[in-house]
Amino acid sequence: MPSVYFQTFGCQMNAADSDAVRDLLFRRGFTLGATHDESDLIVVNTCSVREAAERRAKSRIAEFARGKKRRRGQRLWVIGCMAQRLGDALAAEIPGVDLVVGAGQIGRMDEVIDAQFPARPADGGDRPPSEIFSKTAASDFVPIMRGCDNFCAYCVVPYVRGREQSMPYDDIEAAVKKKVDAGIKEVTFLGQNVNSYSHNGIDFPELLRGMARIGGLERIRFTTSHPKDCTERLIDVMASSRKFASHIHLPAQAGSDRVLGLMNRGYTSSSYVGLLDMIRKHIPYADITSDLLVGFPTESGAEFRETLELAREARFTAAFMFAYSPREGTAAAAMPETIDRTEKMARLSELIDLQTGITREIYDSAVGTELEVLITERQRKRDRAWMGQDAGCKRVLINCDGLESGMIIKARAVGSSGMTLLAEKKQCFMSTFKTL
Ligand code: SF4
Repeated sequence: MPSVYFQTFGCQMNAADSDAVRDLLFRRGFTLGATHDESDLIVVNTCSVREAAERRAKSRIAEFARGKKRRRGQRLWVIGCMAQRLGDALAAEIPGVDLVVGAGQIGRMDEVIDAQFPARPADGGDRPPSEIFSKTAASDFVPIMRGCDNFCAYCVVPYVRGREQSMPYDDIEAAVKKKVDAGIKEVTFLGQNVNSYSHNGIDFPELLRGMARIGGLERIRFTTSHPKDCTERLIDVMASSRKFASHIHLPAQAGSDRVLGLMNRGYTSSSYVGLLDMIRKHIPYADITSDLLVGFPTESGAEFRETLELAREARFTAAFMFAYSPREGTAAAAMPETIDRTEKMARLSELIDLQTGITREIYDSAVGTELEVLITERQRKRDRAWMGQDAGCKRVLINCDGLESGMIIKARAVGSSGMTLLAEKKQCFMSTFKTL
């Protein structure tokens, strides 16, 4: 049987797309190759969101292309956002690439695979549950929409993933039920801007209400929420059932209203803070996480300080923090770059130091509290150590016998490393936290 090896770069949407392509190949009789050297097909799913992400993907693709000589007939496909942005120029730049399929064409992968393997019947059938690829054995992603209509000035996504398209409610429900039947307890609904989900009159809060009724599904997460579309009705739905994780990822990006305007984000710093207040009024214990971008063209030192101020006020449980880099074709790429790399890195490092301290304080303050932990996976090489996630977004380590992936247990946080909680299930005696 032919085998396929996947390398996926970038976001959770890419992970879900790789899973879907894998599924299609499995239905045609492919198996998963242990290494790229031993596989008949290599699929690289690429990211375009930052220059560094493209550089990393290109270097890996070039490495795979050079290695093709070692296995006769091996094929190399490049899919995803960079494939969309560069198209066939990518195959010209890296000889050895056999096929380039952009993120906008992922929905047509069925036809693409048939065209590539005309002699191979679609006879692999559904994958058995043991071969379902997921985030973990207990948790998986379910895309509910693709593309984005927001055109934030720095972002290449609307160009490479196209305009927003929401998936039919029934298809989403069927995908969730299939995963639950295979043992998945938690799903994360994915979209570039899930709050603007809309299909046949069903909006995102209504979709969530419907999904919460699925028996056997224990926990529901979603990402990413755009602050300008995050409504009180959505937060009301989140607060209405314990099935909804008390976590929302709400990218703030910057603290200066002038910079937010240039970014085309559609909110101000004070309206963003107002949104956090509203969320915490409904879900006082909510974990709120964010994305923050420093060094946007023309961002002054004082405006960067406004981002620091926002981070201090918002008290994010965690944040992804980046230094701006121009992406060809975006509005920001035409703006003058006024901040040199050294300054950008200095700003980034100051922000990371601040946020790391806040994250540590939030984790430390959770010590002594009761947690509801979904056990997700065994910690590598340690028999009794299990990783899980609380009802918010905190990582939890539990040392205990008798646990299994997919269990939801009550536990008490007894220690913190600043980015992981150590917890104990009542009857378990904990080993030392120093081993973290
Ligand atoms: S909302 Fe903005 S940052 Fe997010 S994907 Fe769309 S354009 Fe990019």
